[in-house]
Amino acid sequence: MTHNITLIPGDGIGPEVTLAARKCIEATGVKIEWEEVIAGEEALKKHGDILPPNVLESIKRNQVALKGPITTPIGTGFRSVNVAIRQALDLYACVRPAKSYPGVRSLYKDVDLVIIRENSEDLYAGIEFEEGKAETLNLIAQIRKYAQKNIRTDSGISIKPISRSASERIIRFAFEYALENNRKKVTAVHKANIMKFTDGLFLNTAREIAKEYAGKVAFEEAIVDNMSMQLVQRPRNYDVLVLPNLYGDIISDLCAGLIGGLGVAPGANIGEKIAVFEAVHGAAPKYAGQNKVNPAAMILSGVLMLRYLREGAAAQKLENAVRQVLQEAKSVTYDLKPSRDDPTSVGTREMAEAIISKI
Ligand code: NAD
Repeated sequence: MTHNITLIPGDGIGPEVTLAARKCIEATGVKIEWEEVIAGEEALKKHGDILPPNVLESIKRNQVALKGPITTPIGTGFRSVNVAIRQALDLYACVRPAKSYPGVRSLYKDVDLVIIRENSEDLYAGIEFEEGKAETLNLIAQIRKYAQKNIRTDSGISIKPISRSASERIIRFAFEYALENNRKKVTAVHKANIMKFTDGLFLNTAREIAKEYAGKVAFEEAIVDNMSMQLVQRPRNYDVLVLPNLYGDIISDLCAGLIGGLGVAPGANIGEKIAVFEAVHGAAPKYAGQNKVNPAAMILSGVLMLRYLREGAAAQKLENAVRQVLQEAKSVTYDLKPSRDDPTSVGTREMAEAIISKI
């Protein structure tokens, strides 16, 4: 069977790593018809829109996409295209496995965690009020009236909505994921001691849903600051973590650090019927076009995609090939060598070729 898949190369290092992933996926023998579409700055230049309608149309039609990272200007400029895609398609579950591979230098061996991050709300909802604007001053006055709290009039405000329904579906997703993948424990991560009505709601929902899985999957809760320390001290004590959007974003980079860096951290954004696969890392603009960065995170995102497509054998073949190349640590990019200027490091293309040769 041929799978129709949307391919978004992205920008920065995106086009290089997606091309590497595409070649590796094709080398497994799985038949794929790629439909390439552009989003982000290039789309803005060509079509006057950072997220042209044909991008979402293509993903909706094909139901599966492989996506490179897309740059978001910091502080000013357009909002994240990455977040917009997740929100527009209601890809509510971000799944980010953090798994140690032998040969990858890191402080730990045998880390095997899965981060399940809520993708649709929290401070990422994009509800923001700019400092000094009339509506912001109005909102500040309303808050003063209803909450009887003073907010400085020269403040900007970002809103953090967390709902029972979105919490319920992500927590259920985490428990179902644990069951399907033979995982033993789900840890809900929060800051409910401070944010009682948002993180508190998330936590209470987790406690309720956990009861339905009692005896099948263990449940535990952790405050996000303490979780950060625990993960650094004892990462092997954890299994599946479920988190609201912002903590999920931060903790997934921390977990990438536990397994040797962003170069080996894959991810998926999953909704009811649609899934978009992308690495945890961003567009790393300083390395763009240099054939330098590690394609493994994107290739391993391809492995997740193949599993999602029920191409289990091809997924396993590709993951084994990546594992072998990482273990040999010969044909790998600079970030996987003992020093960053190691002359034996290879480029993005060459590492992908080495992986293909092991399939
Ligand atoms: P980044 O992940 O792009 O890069 C941070 C650093 O990590 C790089 O400088 C590099 O040293 C290292 N790195 C990242 N990917 C690597 C790889 N494949 N191989 C080797 N080393 C790698 O994070 P950033 O600098 O914070 O973000 C750059 C841009 O990417 C920003 O505009 C940001 O908004 C965007 N971004 C996009 C996504 C996405 O598309 N989903 C995710 C995160 C960041």
